[in-house]
Amino acid sequence: METILVSKCLAGSYCRYDGGTNLVPEIQRLVEQGFAVTACPEELGGLPTPRVPSERHNSRVVSREGHDVTLEFESGAEAALRIARENGCRTAVLKSRSPSCGKGCIYDGSFTGKLVAGNGVTTDLFLKNGIRVITEEEFLSTLQMVP
Ligand code: SF4
Repeated sequence: METILVSKCLAGSYCRYDGGTNLVPEIQRLVEQGFAVTACPEELGGLPTPRVPSERHNSRVVSREGHDVTLEFESGAEAALRIARENGCRTAVLKSRSPSCGKGCIYDGSFTGKLVAGNGVTTDLFLKNGIRVITEEEFLSTLQMVP
């Protein structure tokens, strides 16, 4: 079975911006059984946990306090891509709506909880490099279709 890459917070790591986790037990199990490797692009880019939340705004990523963290997000995405390549991953299950890991829709940069069409920085890089990205929600709905 092919190894997949998953957002580290989905596997139970407390790497979310507020020090929390986004644990999905089914995804944690894949990691424990050796079928998945993890990456947290924001930590890989050098940002601390906990950290001030950031959102994509046009071509930049800006923290709620107004700091431009585009370079950290891009460098974290490159590091996550390296991990995916080193492990032969062709599929990634990434956390929905995140400015790094979201796919299809992300927060709009206003820090008001509004969503816009778009991808996180890591998702964009993965897709450009031929790695299929699905959200944890899509992953779970696929499992439900298995008889
Ligand atoms: S960058 Fe991705 S893996 Fe890290 S906490 Fe955010 S959603 Fe989770």
